[in-house]
Amino acid sequence: MGKRKPVVGPPGGGLGAVEVTVLACRCRCGHEWVTRNREKPRVCPKCKSPNWDKPKKWEWAPDRQ
Ligand SMILES: [Zn+2]
Repeated sequence: MGKRKPVVGPPGGGLGAVEVTVLACRCRCGHEWVTRNREKPRVCPKCKSPNWDKPKKWEWAPDRQ
């Protein structure tokens, strides 16, 4: 069997806890990424769409069965 991955600890290798705020984002193009910025990204880093967090109206089917 392979080696186990080391547990990721706080920065610097010290003990303790750090608060890390991340935003998990998913664009309507399907791209997913995580940003450490507290503010919402303006554009998708992949497709550069400024409306990445809004569904395409012409694709959005809330009543899809
Ligand atoms: Zn995108």
